[in-house]
Amino acid sequence: MIATDLHTHTTYCDGKNTPAEMAAAAYARGFSRFGMSGHSYVAFDTCCMSKENTELYRAEVQRLKKEYEGRMEILLGVEQDFYSEMPTEGYDYVIGSVHYLKVTDPDTGEACYPAIDDTEEILKAACEKYFAGVMLSVAEAYYETVAQVAEKTNCDIIGHVDLITKYIEKDPLFDTGDPRYVAAWKKAVDRLLTCGKPFEVNVGAIARGYRTTPYPAPEIIAYIKERGGKLVLSSDSHSAENVGFEFEKWGEMI
Ligand SMILES: [Zn+2]
Ligand SMILES: [Zn+2]
Repeated sequence: MIATDLHTHTTYCDGKNTPAEMAAAAYARGFSRFGMSGHSYVAFDTCCMSKENTELYRAEVQRLKKEYEGRMEILLGVEQDFYSEMPTEGYDYVIGSVHYLKVTDPDTGEACYPAIDDTEEILKAACEKYFAGVMLSVAEAYYETVAQVAEKTNCDIIGHVDLITKYIEKDPLFDTGDPRYVAAWKKAVDRLLTCGKPFEVNVGAIARGYRTTPYPAPEIIAYIKERGGKLVLSSDSHSAENVGFEFEKWGEMI
């Protein structure tokens, strides 16, 4: 089994368990390396770590690092949102993720940041308001942002590259075989491949009941592999019970 899990969340952001509880779960499951990756602070985000919690989180993970020394390697990570302005110095690694689109409000002319993965209703409302109801246009805007995530966040791991498909198993919001959609993800993946950073295979949406396969979709994983791109398995767990979720099964995809 792959004994490393680097994408996990704690009570310092939107997770259900403390760093100590998450680490204990990883250790009990035989992990040799375990990383926590709190959501970086973004002013308009309600799931992220506050600035104050960021400091507390960092101190607590450093403390656990010492506590587990010689038994399990603990790493201090951060899931850096594309629109986060927080510094990433001092972390052992950075996961670069896009959770929002930047659009201009047609009424006020101001920038707004609708969430991709908060709720399906928010995604659909943003599609209606900013993209004339065309979900393929939302997907294109999403991948244009994703294409730049490695440069913007200077990440070590590229997070859930096709997050825009979170809801489509239950509600086919668009056709993932549509040439527009395929061209959009290929363009983003091609650019990301040039940076040489690994893409994560993220099982978080399976554990939470949204999907039956990881991010990214099998055809994107195959495309990355064919071009020599690297992949890392991660749970994106928001609770101790989901640390290393189905790693034996999904590790075979890598
Ligand atoms: Zn994420
Ligand atoms: Zn995450």
